[in-house]
Amino acid sequence: ATIRKVKDRGGSAISALTSGDHERLSRKAAIEKRLICALDSKNLQLLYQPQVNLVNGKVERVEAFVRWTDPEIGVVTPDELIPIAEENGLINKIGSFVVETACRQLSDWKSKNIDLHISINSSIHEFRDKDMAKMILNQLKINNCEPSSLMIEITEKFALEAEAERSIMTQMKSLNQEGISFALDDFGTGYASFRYMLMLPISSIKIDQMIIQSITKQEKMQKLINGMIQFGKSLDFQVTAEGVETNEQFELLRAMGCDSLQGFFIGHPMTASDLEKWLG
Ligand code: C2E
Ligand code: MG
Ligand code: MG
Ligand code: MG
Repeated sequence: ATIRKVKDRGGSAISALTSGDHERLSRKAAIEKRLICALDSKNLQLLYQPQVNLVNGKVERVEAFVRWTDPEIGVVTPDELIPIAEENGLINKIGSFVVETACRQLSDWKSKNIDLHISINSSIHEFRDKDMAKMILNQLKINNCEPSSLMIEITEKFALEAEAERSIMTQMKSLNQEGISFALDDFGTGYASFRYMLMLPISSIKIDQMIIQSITKQEKMQKLINGMIQFGKSLDFQVTAEGVETNEQFELLRAMGCDSLQGFFIGHPMTASDLEKWLG
């Protein structure tokens, strides 16, 4: 369908959409409508992916990922869900669900003597709510969790924008003062502005999976990754590699002195109960 076709029919500008556009818009509308129900009935889920600390060989932290399968529209991946939720404002409710669920999970593991920290992903839109920090601290408190058991992953885009938004900086700093740590996610794919790494209370960097997966392909890539690891360590960041899929990648990254590794080679994201079995 082209604009000319629409004109032939004397259609208005609004109908100058391809059938692909219509499909996308109606899926988006369906997602918005079903997401409201899913959030009300807490019909979302968190999966947890183990991260290995190479210093002691232990799994001390897991990263939580939101998962949503709707009975009517099926699986909606985070890559589709998050941008839509950011646009319509439902991201704040997703954030509350993630924080609540992660804190409850921390408390459940504590009662089972499972010593794990959780890292959650956060969008800058969540921090534009001036009560975000309060909400996080409150959830930690009511679940009787140590703030140090929670880490928040932000992207380079988040970091860049946060630097200019005082209220976000303030919230991050106050959370950090309470003991919550921050990691810079997808490191190396964004804006390569290093200044904010020192301005924001970030303690870890996570080298992006696309970069990690090219480690065995070119010698230059290997040197780049090694440089990124040494660079991070020299600034006292904990350096994590994400998306580790093979033994070869694992060994190279270990030899380069990466602090911790995460990826399908170690474990896929899984439910809390599967993770408990996996640990055992
Ligand atoms: P991310 O935080 O960088 O997460 C890494 C993504 O790679 C996750 O996809 C994870 O399931 C996947 N992954 C992990 N290990 C491997 C591996 O070895 N190989 C490959 N090919 N993939 C691997 P997922 O869960 O689809 O999430 C995609 C992105 O969506 C995340 O990127 C994060 O930015 C965002 N996201 C996920 N969950 C949440 C959430 O609860 N809140 C917010 N705000 N964003 C989230
Ligand atoms: Mg992440
Ligand atoms: Mg990442
Ligand atoms: Mg990512």
